Amino acid sequence: MRELLLLDPVCVHNIWGGTKLREEFGYPVEGSGIGECWGISAHPNGDGTVRSGSFKGRKLSWVWKEHPEFFGSLPYDRYPLLTKIIDAQDDLSIQVHPDDAYAGEHENGSLGKTECWYIMDCGEDAKIVIGHNARTEEELHAMVEEARWGELIREIPIRKGDFLQIDPGTVHAIKAHTLILETQQNSDITYRLYDYDRLQDGKKRELHIEKSLDVIRVPERDTRDCVKSTENLPENTLNQIYSCDKYSVFKLDVNGKASFAQKYPFLAASVLEGEGRVDGTNVRKGDHFILSAGYGDVEMEGKMSLILSTVEK
Ligand code: ZN
Repeated sequence: MRELLLLDPVCVHNIWGGTKLREEFGYPVEGSGIGECWGISAHPNGDGTVRSGSFKGRKLSWVWKEHPEFFGSLPYDRYPLLTKIIDAQDDLSIQVHPDDAYAGEHENGSLGKTECWYIMDCGEDAKIVIGHNARTEEELHAMVEEARWGELIREIPIRKGDFLQIDPGTVHAIKAHTLILETQQNSDITYRLYDYDRLQDGKKRELHIEKSLDVIRVPERDTRDCVKSTENLPENTLNQIYSCDKYSVFKLDVNGKASFAQKYPFLAASVLEGEGRVDGTNVRKGDHFILSAGYGDVEMEGKMSLILSTVEK
């Protein structure tokens, strides 16, 4: 099979969102507070629609179910990944995700959530929340109980082009004025640890302290290891920037012409900047597409920057 499947994403409103996803990326979504574009998603809370080709008008979950060969007939019961663009205009709540074992037992057999972020844009001197400073379980419980959040929460500086891996059990949050591309397991299970004591409609949002304490890793690793710069990667090359048992993620900057072999079960791609062509199909900033199993040689041209992902067979 040799097919390029372009997707129409699903956008989601959140209290911390903005209007960039409509105004800069052109997604047809009304109002303000647009926090997320679920660009490549077969999740029931936001199932993308195929824009053109033989599956035009079908949901991605339908293609996954009816045409497993498109994705290399993988041994998963659902499309394994979820790719989002997140526009945070305000700080997101501080959260942590369970792994597959904990989610399977406590969340009706759901998958856990391993995720990673590519920083598309952020302010100067921007920071992100990743990890915590408690040395023992007792210290973690005490700090949470006594609301010593400033002491507990670890922040690190970030720059445009940084890549961060967020394993289950890692306390994390995006801060205001950060635009990211998130690649994650196809799961929506999040435990909220702290929400800066903010009120929404006069009430604080629900926290999940017990479950958070169950899954937070103590002591934390050296969080400097979670960040990787993608500066100075060669142009016109499919650069693998991360790989784990849940996904492999690549960065590709096309400047002129780029050719490579699509040898993965599938290759999901998001155009973050610029525009160009993929084997004759025009794509531009904000477009998301998937190249099928057995696609073979890919030729891209133009000036554009992409993040791509797949899973190991
Ligand atoms: Zn998360």
